[in-house]
Amino acid sequence: MVSTGSTTPSENRFEYAPAPESRSVVDIRSSYGVFVDGEFVDGVGGRSFKTINPATEEVLAEVTEATPADVDRAVQAARRAYARVWSRMSGRERSKYLFRIARIMQERSRELAVLESIDNGKPIREARDVDVPIAAAHFFYYAGWADKLEYAGLSTAQSGPPQPLGVAGQVIPWNFPLLMLAWKIAPALACGNTVVLKPAETTPLTALLFAEICQQADLPPGVVNIVTGAGETGRALVAHDDVDKVAFTGSTEVGKLIAKTVAGTRKRVTLELGGKAANIVFDDAPVDQAVEGIVNGIFFNQGHVCCAGSRLLVQESVAEDVLDRLKRRMSTLRVGDPLDKNTDVGAINSAEQLAKIKELSDVGEAEGAGRWSPPCELPAHGFWFPPTVFTGVTQAHRIAREEIFGPVLSVLTFRTPAEAVEKANNSPYGLSAGVWTDKGSRILWMANQLRAGVVWANTFNKFDPTSPFGGYKESGYGREGGRHGLEGYVR
Ligand code: NDP
Repeated sequence: MVSTGSTTPSENRFEYAPAPESRSVVDIRSSYGVFVDGEFVDGVGGRSFKTINPATEEVLAEVTEATPADVDRAVQAARRAYARVWSRMSGRERSKYLFRIARIMQERSRELAVLESIDNGKPIREARDVDVPIAAAHFFYYAGWADKLEYAGLSTAQSGPPQPLGVAGQVIPWNFPLLMLAWKIAPALACGNTVVLKPAETTPLTALLFAEICQQADLPPGVVNIVTGAGETGRALVAHDDVDKVAFTGSTEVGKLIAKTVAGTRKRVTLELGGKAANIVFDDAPVDQAVEGIVNGIFFNQGHVCCAGSRLLVQESVAEDVLDRLKRRMSTLRVGDPLDKNTDVGAINSAEQLAKIKELSDVGEAEGAGRWSPPCELPAHGFWFPPTVFTGVTQAHRIAREEIFGPVLSVLTFRTPAEAVEKANNSPYGLSAGVWTDKGSRILWMANQLRAGVVWANTFNKFDPTSPFGGYKESGYGREGGRHGLEGYVR
């Protein structure tokens, strides 16, 4: 049974009555085809796979494993829709569809949030307050751009207004299934492209519900196509000759494979890959606020966040105090049923991911770092990992270098700002960073020195559709979000 947050000694703990969100709002079909040319159709190969609820291991639905023939059908449908309808439509008309999709997402937000929580394992509070509203906000935001592309600063007098690229093949991960879909589809459509999107194998359900939303919005058939499947399906989509643009979010390893596949072709590509962000706390930081930021930075979404603040760099003079308060705060985190509105940390998305988190955590211990988790009663079924902190970590430790992608924080210390910068930048990644200090001048200095696409100051994990997001170094290239997010989808 799911624990209702018995993670702490009773004297520290608020007693909460369970506050379960109702599942009755979602209607999950027993099986799903692929979404091609405006309708759900059976896969050509007849193969399927199961998607499960990671909090209970309950099978939710059978989902089609799309073959290269299915991908081809979807790309052809996208090409037809591009040539006949979408690229010819005025930006003003396209924006009406995007606004309509955004409004339907808002109207069906509870359904989307519950489904996301069930299929992914994330707490309903986060799906409801972060994933779904920000996903809808992306559609609203890019709807606003659709008829203003000429004014986006992307063209010159000689080049004329920006033109769409054609068919976009988009592959997304399992950590923010609906939000990543919105990051990919909204700018593509706003610029006049059509898309074929492959959701992650373990989290296809909100993408399939989004397909229904496209039908409800009367989006012309073929403008959005969804092909479900595993890595092979993604590979077929990326390699398809008639795809003009590839957009990928996921691991650096697969990102490199994709870069090789598209090298030497006409395809444009944007890659948003892994990260190992430094969250840097100076001795003049507001400590309690910083502790909230550290917790949000690494335990939000079970740490399944590419820009998670997984390396805490804390100034030596305040390290003990920060750690004490952090542990006290971690003791109040409630781990358990994702559909309980009181839950802070939900289930790990899959058995594979859990195995990876366990393996790297064991390595951390074997390499000599000190491991600590609050007393934490984990549910008997499903995939769970307690919030964990490693102290005494050095830069050579694997847990300081590799993306764990789980609720695991590595703590390092520094003495001077220069040392903090050096340690923060000592990573093959460069997606995000956080700086906690009282001094505005130090924030600006640090932001200039840090090789990270996003630097948060006295906050962490803040996302907004108007703000570009992307990486340096092995965290990928191209930007998503904001005006910059249009650049990847126009000529
Ligand atoms: P992947 O990079 O394998 O998956 C991302 C997406 O790419 C999924 O839709 C996946 O399909 C698909 N895919 C897999 N192989 C290929 C391929 N050869 N060509 C095209 N598409 C492909 O990440 P994983 O889910 O396997 O997670 C592994 C690790 O990656 C995690 O432990 C984490 O460290 C990191 N990760 C980082 C993310 C980020 O945002 N930075 C997001 C997700 C993971 P399928 O789901 O079927 O495998």
